[in-house]
Formats: sequence, structure tokens, C-alpha cells
Amino acid sequence: MYLKQIEMVGFKSFADRTKITFDTGVTAIVGPNGSGKSNVTESLRWALGEQSAKSLRGAKMPDIIFAGTQKRRALNYAEVIVTFDNADSYLPSEATVVITRRLYRNGDSEFLINGKKVRLKDVHELFTDTGLGRDSFSIISQGKIESIFNSKPEERRAIFEEAAGVLKYKNRKKETESK
Ligand code: ATP
Ligand code: MG
Repeated sequence: MYLKQIEMVGFKSFADRTKITFDTGVTAIVGPNGSGKSNVTESLRWALGEQSAKSLRGAKMPDIIFAGTQKRRALNYAEVIVTFDNADSYLPSEATVVITRRLYRNGDSEFLINGKKVRLKDVHELFTDTGLGRDSFSIISQGKIESIFNSKPEERRAIFEEAAGVLKYKNRKKETESK
């Protein structure tokens, strides 16, 4: 599985529809300070179900919507569409997996997997144990390394559990026990 494309509309500094296509192998995004490099990685985290506005450097979730500039009015809507090549069936889904997340300023939001409306939980479940799941270790943002070093042993353990692929089973056990 690999990340093929990120498409953003109204996400942070990306007011116009912006598509970034990736190949297999390593890709580096370079640019001056403030040009939107971190915003690109945040758009990926957001599309995959990030729920913490703070970890996206905002106070509340609608802060991720393009807030306008002197020359351009703010938008009322943000959308990120992430496409994965899943030809190797790494994810339990189709050969191409497209995740869409939308948010309106009034707070309405939706998730889609391959064009079908789903719950946040479904997106989280699809990516659990892949390294792209909730609190995923594959996306290390500025400052995250220190926080991993400084975290409590139990918190650090969760990172290893996701890497080892056992989180899915632990979550299911918890869900069963709570019924
Ligand atoms: P650095 O090299 O300093 O890490 P960077 O390339 O990672 O910079 P980002 O942090 O991704 O840059 O982008 C910051 C820019 O995004 C700022 O100019 C900020 O004003 C803009 N920005 C963030 N949120 C919004 C928003 N909701 N609407 C419009 N612009 C936004
Ligand atoms: Mg940055």
C-alpha cells in the first residue's frame, strides 16, 4: 500500500483545489517557512480522522478551514481526499482506497470511504495497526519526537502495540467487554 494522492480544497492555506501526486519511494516536500509543508501532512492526518484541533495547531476544528487573506475571502468548507494504492491488499478494502473528509463552518462534517458515507469509527478501524491509525507513529510532526521521549511508559507502549499490530485486537476486546 502506498499514498498516491492528496487533494485539498479550503484546507488551511490551500484555498484552491490542490492535488499532490506521489510515486512509490521517498518524496520530500521543500519550501520556505510558512509555505504550507506542515499543512500538507496535517491534511493527511485530518483526512484519516484526527480529532484533536490542538494537534493540528488550531483551537477548534473549523480553524482548519481557509480563514481568508487580505485579498481573498474566507471559505466555509474544507475537503481533503486521500488516495491509497492498495493493490497489495494491505488494507482490508478495494485495490484503490479513497478517503474523503469534509467539514463546514457550522460544524457539519462527513467521512467517505470510496464514495460511501461512513462513520469516523470506520475510518479509524480501517487504519488501525497500519501505522496510519489514531495517534499513528508514521506521521511524526514537529515536536512529536520530544513528546514520545517524555511520554509515560503506558503511552509509549501504545506506540509499540500499534507497530506490532495488536491494537486492533485490544480495541475489539475492550468493545466486547463493555457490552
Ligand atoms: P515551516 O518551514 O516554518 O515549518 P511550513 O511550510 O510547514 O513552515 P505551514 O506551517 O504548513 O508552513 O503553513 C503555515 C501557513 O499556513 C501560515 O502562513 C498560516 O497563516 C497558514 N494557515 C494556517 N491555517 C490557515 C487557515 N485556516 N487559513 C489560511 N491560512 C492558514
Ligand atoms: Mg512546518
